[in-house]
Amino acid sequence: MSAEQPTVLVVEDEPAQREVLSYNLEAEGFRVSKAEDGEQALLLAEEDAPDIIVLDWMLPNVSGIEVCRRLKSRAETRGVPVIMLSARSEEVDRVRGLETGADDYVVKPYSVVELMARVRAQLRRTRPASVGERLEYEDIILDSETHRVTRSENQLKLGPTEFRLLTTFMEKPGRVWTREQLLDRVWGRDIYVDTRTVDVHIGRLRKALCQFGGNDPLRTVRGAGYALG
Ligand code: CA
Repeated sequence: MSAEQPTVLVVEDEPAQREVLSYNLEAEGFRVSKAEDGEQALLLAEEDAPDIIVLDWMLPNVSGIEVCRRLKSRAETRGVPVIMLSARSEEVDRVRGLETGADDYVVKPYSVVELMARVRAQLRRTRPASVGERLEYEDIILDSETHRVTRSENQLKLGPTEFRLLTTFMEKPGRVWTREQLLDRVWGRDIYVDTRTVDVHIGRLRKALCQFGGNDPLRTVRGAGYALG
């Protein structure tokens, strides 16, 4: 796939369906994290910080609807797109589904091709580089397929960490990222890295972005973190 492999959280209580779905997503190049009920889903949604959640409607204990509602009410998970799966196709269900804050809705039995297209469509909106989109910010162009970055048509030399940092910034220009959020996104949650490391790599990224001149597009937000623009 591309620079960053997006993580999909699959929430499905039926083992056979969960495995088929996971297998297909992995075959498409996604990382998959799996939950078999609503409680586990809510836990993994915070722990694994997935890029997208495919959520079955019919789950034991906490229903998919309730899981979706809770995900959308928490600041940490609100922005993660949710695709609901349901066996019921009535229009009323669709409306109810969308009222829970679900971003999309697929009726079972679904075609794998269609579901993959829906997953990609959501990611194109929230994590464009992860599905190979080219990112642009002012005179900077980042190609996530070839890992090339140019500024005013000059090709920039960037280390892998600086490339991932820039990708994160360019996916959401103007957004202020805390050092902790950048650590999660760029280094991953499983690795312990000191927050000062972020400052070191930001310094390198700034230098790289200005290697052929031009203004420093990165903004230091005192007491908060960093933003592009
Ligand atoms: Ca189910």
